[in-house]
Amino acid sequence: MSKPEKVDSRSRDQQKMERIVSLSKRRGVIYPSSEIYGGAGSVWDYGPVGVLLKNNVKQAWWRAVVQQRDDTVGLDAAILMHPRVWEASGHVSGFTDPLVDCLQCKQRFRADDLAGDRCPACGGELTEARAFNLMFKTFMGPVENEAAVTYLRPETCQGVFVNFKNVLVSSRKKPPFGIAQIGKSFRNEITTGNFTFRSREFEQYEIEYFVPPEQADQWFEYWVEERLKWYTDLGIAADRLRLRPHREDELAHYASRCTDIEYGFPFGWSELEGIANRQDFDLRQHQEHSGKDLTYFDEAEKRRYLPHVIEPSGGVDRSVLAFVVDAYEEIPGGRGSAGAEVESVLRLHPRLAPIKAAVLPLVRRDGMPDRAHAIYDDLRRHWFVEYDEGGSIGRRYRRQDEIGTPFCMTIDSQTAEDGTVTVRDRDTMEQIRVSADKLVEFLRDKLGEC
Ligand code: ATP
Repeated sequence: MSKPEKVDSRSRDQQKMERIVSLSKRRGVIYPSSEIYGGAGSVWDYGPVGVLLKNNVKQAWWRAVVQQRDDTVGLDAAILMHPRVWEASGHVSGFTDPLVDCLQCKQRFRADDLAGDRCPACGGELTEARAFNLMFKTFMGPVENEAAVTYLRPETCQGVFVNFKNVLVSSRKKPPFGIAQIGKSFRNEITTGNFTFRSREFEQYEIEYFVPPEQADQWFEYWVEERLKWYTDLGIAADRLRLRPHREDELAHYASRCTDIEYGFPFGWSELEGIANRQDFDLRQHQEHSGKDLTYFDEAEKRRYLPHVIEPSGGVDRSVLAFVVDAYEEIPGGRGSAGAEVESVLRLHPRLAPIKAAVLPLVRRDGMPDRAHAIYDDLRRHWFVEYDEGGSIGRRYRRQDEIGTPFCMTIDSQTAEDGTVTVRDRDTMEQIRVSADKLVEFLRDKLGEC
């Protein structure tokens, strides 16, 4: 009698997500933080491949929203700020989630995540909900007293608002104009999980786009379209993205409109980025709390006003996760080598691919490693390129497929005869011969603006 097949109770999507997490660790994309101590809850480290991928995502954003526009400038504000910033912004009093405790098993949950009124873990009785502030508290200076309390920033945009006048004066920009920033934010999230999707330390990219009040609606719509296009231009399938306008009852206190860009992750549709009309809430609050005039005087129209703000605010880690999930493809039985198990390919956009090409001597003799090294040295003056001479050529190709390397260049016996190498395309697996001294030109042509 044949053995009954083992039934896996996890859904296919869950299993796929687990394989992505496992590939990420195996190939140096993302590791759990402090893993040798059992991990730090929902904090993640980017490995040698992951840091390149994340940098490429940030560079693609910076290029699109700062370098290629003449109406935005960049900023890099500090994580630690004056504690009064967080009073003015409303975070000290209002940046809270409703928290409940189970009286029996002592676990904590977000009240708005629960379906019923009993503990989802043990069925025990729950406490009344109380407000739990998500900001990480710390002390500034040598004395640990109330006066020295400050916070790790829970969002990057406040650094932009408090610098609004500085940037206005030094850059000589006029509304409509934007200030863009990438940086770390910290939230002591109650409910975490789904890999890097909800982390306690994460990176945000945000644009605060300052506009005359009457132009706010038109710029809001412009930025929703612009930001959606950025994801599809970098290869995310359009049908895996959707826009979700917020209902009036879920809008943040500062926003008159907000639309989320969501991605269809294996764990469900979830927010990658939110585009909000923050009106003049933040500038007005900081003007009142600091006593400094934050208005703009329009010389041409002879009028003074507080600009309104359209804010596209996205998460770098969530984007990296979406790019990886979207690019990840499993091929049961492999793509050639008969009998292989499931093979995976990361079909990342070349601009995001951590390694642009791998240089592989077919064998470790007949002068192939020396010739390969010369090519490797030449190419890595331009791009991140890897050299690999260990294991069979098939295994080396699969390793590169798993980290999304668009091209593999194999140095074989023909290289010594006619100076050409085999170039293998990650997506089509087509192999062509290219002259070794034309490889820079070849890659420049194929990779475009990378
Ligand atoms: P969510 O509803 O998922 O908690 P949010 O609406 O609170 O997110 P915002 O405050 O609008 O998020 O932050 C802007 C962006 O920052 C989000 O679109 C997301 O990409 C990112 N982000 C927010 N919180 C986290 C987190 N805990 N981990 C990773 N990224 C985050």
